Amino acid sequence: MSSTNRIALVTGANKGIGLEIARQLAQAGVHVVLGVRNAQRAGVAVDDLSSQGLSVEAVPLNIDDKASIAAAADSILTKHGKLDILVNNAGIVDAADGPPSTASPDAAKRILETNFIGTLAVTQAMLPLLHKSSAARIVNLSSSLGSLTLNGDPASPYYSARLIGYNASKAAVNMLTVQMAEELKETAILVNSVSPGYVRTDLTGHTGFMTPEEGAKLPVKYALLDDDAVSGTFVEPGGVTPW
Ligand code: NAP
Repeated sequence: MSSTNRIALVTGANKGIGLEIARQLAQAGVHVVLGVRNAQRAGVAVDDLSSQGLSVEAVPLNIDDKASIAAAADSILTKHGKLDILVNNAGIVDAADGPPSTASPDAAKRILETNFIGTLAVTQAMLPLLHKSSAARIVNLSSSLGSLTLNGDPASPYYSARLIGYNASKAAVNMLTVQMAEELKETAILVNSVSPGYVRTDLTGHTGFMTPEEGAKLPVKYALLDDDAVSGTFVEPGGVTPW
């Protein structure tokens, strides 16, 4: 896919994998709108990327807030008239999450609100702008922890990571990917779930095997897919992930 005049929105782009996705998309020639909920953090991220000569701007975006989402969509429509790439990256974990027998239901609700409902709401708000693109891509940041198959497979490295709220939120994101890809299959919009790998960020307490730069590579690849590429898939760095 040619990057010329392409516009991308990356949610949660002020740090971690989102910041690196924004950097790599901008390095590929895409103009990147960083969705950031905190103005000060937005300024730091924009300064970081702009100092490298990259074409970026920030828009205030709290994916838990309908008015914020609507204002971000309006801002992109007014400035750019369309959106070519939506990377639904913003996401949370919660210290009170855990195995289903003991996790706080309130924590599970908080996680589902942001990771699933927020992602759904942003996608719906950006859909009219994505339809204005001749070749649009939606990348949903999922996790291998959202795989129902791997959660039930004692041989999987993810088997023991029982976080009912987080894992369910990413399974729900995967459902969004499948249903949205089916709904949009006669359009120019491709939708995929990407698990970035185990990445050292604030979300993982800086544990993990990969740097944020490495973790951004697969989401960026799926954001820049060619026209004849796949839609409705779930991938991780090692290949296709079972649902
Ligand atoms: P991170 O460093 O904690 O960054 C998360 C980003 O999401 C931050 O920019 C944060 O903004 C933003 N965010 C959270 N809630 C938001 C909201 N309501 N509205 C707007 N922005 C919000 O995490 P990360 O590791 O880069 O994770 C990025 C994505 O990858 C997440 O969806 C995560 O589930 C997924 N993922 C990560 C890993 C991993 O190993 N790290 C593995 C699989 C999947 P603030 O700075 O304002 O909090």
